[in-house]
Amino acid sequence: MIKTVGVVGAGPAGVAAAIMLKRYGIEVLLFERRTVGGLLNNAWRVENFPPLEPCTGEELCRKLEDRLTDNDIAIINEEVTAIRDRIIVTRRARYKVDYALVATGTAPKRLPTLETCSRVVYEYRDIPPGTEVIAIYGAGDMAFDGAVRASLRGSRTLLFSRSETLRAIEPLKASAEKAGVELHRAESILRVEPDEALLKITTSLNVYSADALLICIGRESLIPRIDSDRCEIIGDARGEIYRQASIAIGDGIKSAMKIALEG
Ligand SMILES: Cc1cc2nc3c(=O)[nH]c(=O)nc-3n(C[C@H](O)[C@H](O)[C@H](O)COP(=O)(O)OP(=O)(O)OC[C@H]3O[C@@H](n4cnc5c(N)ncnc54)[C@H](O)[C@@H]3O)c2cc1C
Repeated sequence: MIKTVGVVGAGPAGVAAAIMLKRYGIEVLLFERRTVGGLLNNAWRVENFPPLEPCTGEELCRKLEDRLTDNDIAIINEEVTAIRDRIIVTRRARYKVDYALVATGTAPKRLPTLETCSRVVYEYRDIPPGTEVIAIYGAGDMAFDGAVRASLRGSRTLLFSRSETLRAIEPLKASAEKAGVELHRAESILRVEPDEALLKITTSLNVYSADALLICIGRESLIPRIDSDRCEIIGDARGEIYRQASIAIGDGIKSAMKIALEG
């Protein structure tokens, strides 16, 4: 019988699973290496979650945190390094569980040659405070979402897309145009050199100065070392192409129900 479940990751998938398990009377150990809400912490505006009015990602994260508190679920603020048979391993300790749900989300696709200093980041929340000019590299929803958020916050925002084609959905493209994002299509970033407090960004067409560079060129599944068949991967970590908070939440709920009802 499953009495204790370790949930690794407190993004939407992990939080939903943890709450549902708790409702079935199952003890939950919820691990998070950063903050509750996961990638949603970066979202400018979440408009596709029908039960809620459009709101910021940070507001949604606060709601997730509140629901954890309501359900008496504490966060274990530790990074999980491995899952062995019925043992969850962190840098500090080992935790015995009957089953594990791996809700660790995704990691960014990186461009190591551009990572010349700490002002080159892969998530909006890592942009240093006081950034007045931000360069963003990417052409998908995450790049455009970040560009709109930065621009509305008052930063001059330069968005560079390697190709002419922009993958972001139309409403985000329209919001970016309205917010005054400076769009540079078919302009690859070739080099980034720290230059005093600024970054000197050389593209295929020109040279620019910016305070920081946000790279959003895609993400891929992130999973700790697993040597156990007593676990399941849920949410974005599953590596499917369709990745949304609501899908991750549904996934978490479904897996929790399967554990509770099928053992
Ligand atoms: C800019 C942006 C805008 C978005 N806008 C929307 C939107 O409008 N609507 C929508 O539905 N979705 C949106 N999304 C997508 C949504 O955020 C993700 O699909 C969702 O957060 C995935 O949930 P998850 O729980 O599977 O993974 P994540 O949210 O990635 O959470 C994984 C968590 O696991 C933690 N973790 C990872 N490894 C470990 C480890 N080894 N030990 C401990 N903890 C670990 C991470 O720190 C993280 O908190 C957006 C995403 C971004 C980046």
